[in-house]
Amino acid sequence: MTIDLRSDTVTQPSAAMRDAMASAPVGDDVYGDDPTVNRLQEHAAELFGYEAALFAPSGTQTNLIALLAHCGRGDEYLVGQEAHTFRYEGGGAAVLGSIQPQPIANQPDGSLALADIAAQIKPHDFHFARTRLLALENTIGGRVLPREYVKAATALAHERGLATHLDGARACNAAVAQGVSLCDAVAGFDSVSVCLSKGLGAPVGSVLCGSRAFIEEGKRWRKMLGGGMRQAGIVAAAGLYALQHNVERLAEDHANAAFLAAELAKIDGLAVSSPQTNIFYVDVPAAHCAGLAQALAAADIRVSMAPRLRLVTHLDVTRAQLRTVADVFSTYFQQ
Ligand SMILES: *Cc1c(COP(=O)(O)O)cnc(C)c1O
Repeated sequence: MTIDLRSDTVTQPSAAMRDAMASAPVGDDVYGDDPTVNRLQEHAAELFGYEAALFAPSGTQTNLIALLAHCGRGDEYLVGQEAHTFRYEGGGAAVLGSIQPQPIANQPDGSLALADIAAQIKPHDFHFARTRLLALENTIGGRVLPREYVKAATALAHERGLATHLDGARACNAAVAQGVSLCDAVAGFDSVSVCLSKGLGAPVGSVLCGSRAFIEEGKRWRKMLGGGMRQAGIVAAAGLYALQHNVERLAEDHANAAFLAAELAKIDGLAVSSPQTNIFYVDVPAAHCAGLAQALAAADIRVSMAPRLRLVTHLDVTRAQLRTVADVFSTYFQQ
């Protein structure tokens, strides 16, 4: 069987998840009539500690909705150079919202230095874009932002009159890694976007949480972006199932990542990052990229080969399979 370590987005919906999807009561969600979407939104809002939530097809869309709802034309948001909302979303905020990103270098732990944030908040002067929002990401590249840091950064933003958004695609991984509630993991942010289709194992969907007024505004942007879906309860049921059954078990993915990283670190010539959650990186000497890729492919192991190789554990890879992966690596490097 294929062992796929490219991402935690590759998971297949389980039989129980498919059952929940098949039996979900549905309605036209653009009219607000889908009981399963409504349940998912209410459940997510309560879990993460917000007044309301909105279901959308992707995390790219929930992040974009948030940026559009927080910022207007000529506004700017402060964001990490490595952040998904800056680097990996096609420049959507600029293209569709006339919102200027102000990127800031991420520190080695994934954070944005408080001094860098403060230095980039523009004075009220018509030469500058209006700084409106601080957007952080947690987890970022598998790293968990320290809780004290999140508290300080969101407090700084609020003191300076900025709103705060969390790209919490993997906020559940952060909560599980820190042993805190989902509410505590996202505390301090005015809005949070959470992916249901990553480690939580749903096939489709993200939720955006915020105040009731913010989510009402978000609904307008979702419709404009083409994210108004009809009998969406079919997919929302999978997201609800994921939030109810697949959060605690993320600890297994974290333990599996730690296991594989420790095995690979035994191999001479490989530098392996210490995983904090389910994502870690291996520095593969450039001369070995092609050969290692071939050895892995021959064993039906899928990775996105690169000199800085990202490996991701998830609910469709077992400890035994990771043992196999470690063996293929070590056999290759023994030659
Ligand atoms: C995957 C991801 C997103 C976007 O989610 P899609 O559903 O793939 O659009 C946003 N932020 C982060 C950090 C992600 O990993």
